[in-house]
Amino acid sequence: MDKYFLLFFLTLAGMGYGQKETMPNIIFLIGDGMGLTQISTGMYANGNSTELENFEYVGLSKTHATKNLVTDSAASGTAMASGVKTYNGVIGISSKNQKKSSILDYCSAKGYQTGLLSTSSIVHATPASFYAHVESRKEYQKIAIQLMESNVNYFIGGGKKHFTKRDDRKNLIMSSDNRYEIVNSLEEFIESDAEKIGYLTYDDEPPKKSIGRKPALPDMLQATLDKFSKSNQPFFIMTEGSQIDWGGHANEVAYVVSEFLEFNEALRIALRFAEKNGNTLVVVTADHETGGLALTKGNVEKSQVGGRFNTKGHSATMVPVFSYGPTAKNFTGIYDNTALYTKLKKAVDTE
Ligand code: MG
Ligand code: ZN
Repeated sequence: MDKYFLLFFLTLAGMGYGQKETMPNIIFLIGDGMGLTQISTGMYANGNSTELENFEYVGLSKTHATKNLVTDSAASGTAMASGVKTYNGVIGISSKNQKKSSILDYCSAKGYQTGLLSTSSIVHATPASFYAHVESRKEYQKIAIQLMESNVNYFIGGGKKHFTKRDDRKNLIMSSDNRYEIVNSLEEFIESDAEKIGYLTYDDEPPKKSIGRKPALPDMLQATLDKFSKSNQPFFIMTEGSQIDWGGHANEVAYVVSEFLEFNEALRIALRFAEKNGNTLVVVTADHETGGLALTKGNVEKSQVGGRFNTKGHSATMVPVFSYGPTAKNFTGIYDNTALYTKLKKAVDTE
């Protein structure tokens, strides 16, 4: 056989099988406090449209914690990241007091590149659930140390003070143990070709979107996807719209809407990437609902929405799960939030 013909044939065969058999990229997006009402509210406020309508499958997740009907973000983050129910306030440790490794760690061990993006501080409960093990979510300084020792390749989020202004007087950024290149802008993040990069966007918690929080979550996601695309390794990335929850705690519909709309833009970036590149699983869910919001008035044509909150805290209603791409069908049905871990792991193991 002509050797060029053979090469052509092998290339075709490789493409055909390679697409299905290589481990998929995973983009896992969490809207903190984003129940069905927050989605509905954001959708009607957005001209009756949300990117979530373009997902292939929908499921429902039960969010309760080990002892609490109403979960917090630490227990639900741990459930999704590590597959175990635990107590409210606890991160990365099961209710039987066992440290659990996360889906991010699992992916990393399988040769994935990993990323965490958040519009809260990066040591806040949701992102921390993917790399930390602490008995209290409030141990921010301890969580910061654990991030610096983690398998995360790229992280972007607030909370710089937990790394630099510490009770132990250590500066984790200046330390000789620091394995991360810490950058100060999204431009520097994009330009860096370090294997591990951290961008701490604010000293404290980032402000609301409506008063100018930067960088925008979709831009953070795009920049990270561009980086991952340069590598042949698959990637796992968790992207959090953190402040949909804070709008719920504040009982402010406008706060919920503006945060949802930014998250919605990040969903667009994720879906566009998956459509273009293939072999990318996109899963969107919430850790719980916040505020017990009911959407009770408004006008579809005028994109006006109004509602009523029932609590300043979280509620225990199930939250939706939207999925697209390889193994997306596995995310249909009603299941515990812990099953998200199992389903994501299965996506990685489908070879
Ligand atoms: Mg959160
Ligand atoms: Zn909350």
